[in-house]
Amino acid sequence: MTTAPESAPPSNFIRNIIDEDRQAGKNDGRVVTRFPPEPNGFLHIGHAKSICLNFGLAADYQGRCHLRFDDTNPSKEEIAYVESIMTDVRWLGFDWGANLFYASDYFERIYEFAVALIKLGKAYVCDLTPEEMREYRGTLTEPGKESPYRNRTVAENVDLFARMRNGEFPDGSRVLRAKIDMTSGNINMRDPVIYRVLRAHHHRTGDQWCIYPMYDFAHCLSDSIEGITHSICTLEFEDHRPLYDWILDALGTQCHPQQIEFARLNLTYTVMSKRKLLQLVNDHHVSGWDDPRMPTISGFRRRGYTPKAIRAFCERIGVAKRDSMVDTALLEFSIREDLNDTAPRALAVLQPLKVVVENYPEGQVEEFEAPNHPANPEMGSRMVPFSRELYIERDDYMADAPKKFYRLSEGREVRFRSAYLITCREAIKDANGNVVELRCTYDPESRGGSAPDGRKVKGTIHWVSAAHAVNAEVRLYDRLFTVENPGGDKEHDFKELINPESLTVLTGCKLEPSLAAARPGDSFQFERLGYFCADSVDSRPDRPVFNRTVTLRDTWAKEQGK
Ligand code: ATP
Ligand code: MG
Repeated sequence: MTTAPESAPPSNFIRNIIDEDRQAGKNDGRVVTRFPPEPNGFLHIGHAKSICLNFGLAADYQGRCHLRFDDTNPSKEEIAYVESIMTDVRWLGFDWGANLFYASDYFERIYEFAVALIKLGKAYVCDLTPEEMREYRGTLTEPGKESPYRNRTVAENVDLFARMRNGEFPDGSRVLRAKIDMTSGNINMRDPVIYRVLRAHHHRTGDQWCIYPMYDFAHCLSDSIEGITHSICTLEFEDHRPLYDWILDALGTQCHPQQIEFARLNLTYTVMSKRKLLQLVNDHHVSGWDDPRMPTISGFRRRGYTPKAIRAFCERIGVAKRDSMVDTALLEFSIREDLNDTAPRALAVLQPLKVVVENYPEGQVEEFEAPNHPANPEMGSRMVPFSRELYIERDDYMADAPKKFYRLSEGREVRFRSAYLITCREAIKDANGNVVELRCTYDPESRGGSAPDGRKVKGTIHWVSAAHAVNAEVRLYDRLFTVENPGGDKEHDFKELINPESLTVLTGCKLEPSLAAARPGDSFQFERLGYFCADSVDSRPDRPVFNRTVTLRDTWAKEQGK
């Protein structure tokens, strides 16, 4: 039901709990998990952690993992989000099989559970205004006060709740509350609201309902209805667990899943709440949910990240009980690690400087065979044309260069990858003193790039034949925010911390001709520059657009002293 794990999964506290449960014969040894997104935004890398965990556990224990849309809050939810979530989970490599569910499919049953709770004397209709409710709730240090409506009779509650459903009361005028304990140290247990009146169109149930269950009530019951054994969620729900258990115990449900909390993933230099990501989209700070700078699965996909690399990252960060911040450089390390093995190499010049090889015959074209991967001959090779006029990277030339500059400068010789040894003779400048062209010569005896007399040529640079080059736009991405934890900054709104240089668009880039055949989403290593992929939205055969996925510089492994 899921892709096979790449290696034996490391143990963690959740596996330990499951192992113990199985040894004790709990749930007859079955493992049923679920991934329960609310369809109010696109999935992000934090969700990927939860997906890998839930689907991964199900696969490892030959169980199953449900995909359940937690669609109990109609005002913020949309069908487009439902579709994007399914696309992203599949793209990550997971398959829910027949186990696709919607909490909204259980509305009738959840309603009946609420009626049952009323009949047990454990829920009541409350008419306090939202302000009064807040007042009555108490604080962390003071107990709450009981609502004057708390002691309504069962009959009265049954009647009022039915009328809530029938649309007799305006939005917000009445709620159904669980009758627990207004003095509890846990505020979640102070008679929490479990149903509210809300006239909102639901993307699946339409206008059938004008009351909706609250998350805490719907979630545990949905888990129970589906026969979930281990309900894994993030730490902020730890304080909700007593309520989760109270509801299922009060109703005596046949299935009582065990809630287990783990630390959510936070990544440096980005934000991870859907509310904040939606603001970035709505305020046009990014081009959409799939902007390659977004920490969303769809943004990462468009950027050129691979499912395998994201899964490896999730495995690497592990599962813990304490919240922490993960270095974005670690994610990039995982991306590089995968692309290094799989991305074919290519030559591309992003900031072109023209080179004229003076002693190379005009009109002559030679083709050099270049391997697609230095370590993997099975990836084959392609032919790269060489001619008298070429482009190199602007910063591969320097006037008055220091000794260790193993690139072009007057009188210096370098290797043009797979082609020839070339010596720079003169830099031509325009009226403003800018270098616009290099006049060079080549050694005809150095075909393929090796010196005939064995002389040492240290530097190798990339190049593209001018007449054969494919013109392209290349988009370079940097961190979306200037600080490590933009969401945690007390003094600034996170949007003020956006990196103004997070996107650099280069036009007039020169690519080797084989790249004209790149299909949207194809990844390459542009030699010496990084990994790039053809943009899946804007790239056209006559006007290619490439995204820089990640540079070649590995800051993470370096910092770990690897
Ligand atoms: P957000 O804070 O982004 O709005 P959410 O928790 O409201 O996230 P849901 O759609 O309810 O989003 O999340 C679905 C599942 O993904 C939940 O089980 C949730 O615990 C988990 N999840 C959400 N964010 C993270 C994260 N950063 N790290 C790990 N798991 C996460
Ligand atoms: Mg949520």
